[in-house]
Amino acid sequence: MKIDDFRKSKNIEDRRGQSSGGYSGGSAGSGMLLQLLLSRTGWKTKLIILILLFVIGGSGFSGILTGGNTSNPYQSANITTTSDLEVSDEDADFVSKVFASTEDYWDQTFKDEGLTYQAPTLVLYTGSTQTGCGTGQASSGPFYCSADKKVYLDLSFYEELSTKYGAAGDFAMAYVIAHEVGHHVQNELGTMSAYHKKYQSLSEKDANALNVRLELQADYYAGAWANYVQGEGLLEEGDFEEAMTAAHAVGDDHLQKEAYGKTYPDSFTHGTSEQRKRWFNRGFEYGDIEHGDTFSASSL
Ligand SMILES: [Zn+2]
Repeated sequence: MKIDDFRKSKNIEDRRGQSSGGYSGGSAGSGMLLQLLLSRTGWKTKLIILILLFVIGGSGFSGILTGGNTSNPYQSANITTTSDLEVSDEDADFVSKVFASTEDYWDQTFKDEGLTYQAPTLVLYTGSTQTGCGTGQASSGPFYCSADKKVYLDLSFYEELSTKYGAAGDFAMAYVIAHEVGHHVQNELGTMSAYHKKYQSLSEKDANALNVRLELQADYYAGAWANYVQGEGLLEEGDFEEAMTAAHAVGDDHLQKEAYGKTYPDSFTHGTSEQRKRWFNRGFEYGDIEHGDTFSASSL
């Protein structure tokens, strides 16, 4: 990505090196409860807690890998620590510039629709941090919190993308950021609150299916942003493929096959690798909001 000369975003909150402050209350949400309980209980209890949390409703987290809801019992088994991975200020500069490019794109796109875009904040942190949706954990990957309108990113995920997920390259990381910003766009457009309302009334299977539509739309919006990047002459050869490889790597079927040797389609919350690539690619082709209505699409 040829983004060296791009401005850096002003909407950055740098919390790197700060601890999350433990269980001091205040902004405690289901994320914190989940973290507390998962650390001390057996798997049966964990499952019950996860189901209870599902009944209570979505947590407000929406990530590239996990989040959106906390009902997936397959996601708690794969927690790793990331603190020993290398990050540099160069990485922080890069994500800040990518974030700025999403601001320019969505600002203009909203204007074209007669709307005003209120940009989100990008929080850089290490390990864990307090969010408007409970405690954020780096082990869950980057995520967006709809309650405080912030994207949370531990930069070690950048390296993890290539080492753990086999998706190397700067544009793989850029896609991840654009996906999270896509959730903010959903929040701004009211899609997110409609989703949360509907989510509460659904069975677990149907709620997961609805979550897939939310996630695929965020992939579509990431693709629409990539179309803008190309129009600005910022795309380098191989960038598009890097994003597609990343979209493939974070597909539910791929992640479950890697972790468990099989898939559990009813538990999919983000879509298969094929679906994620398809909706990113569709966004890249159309570069608009209109063609990204995953909620009305008869097939995904
Ligand atoms: Zn997501």
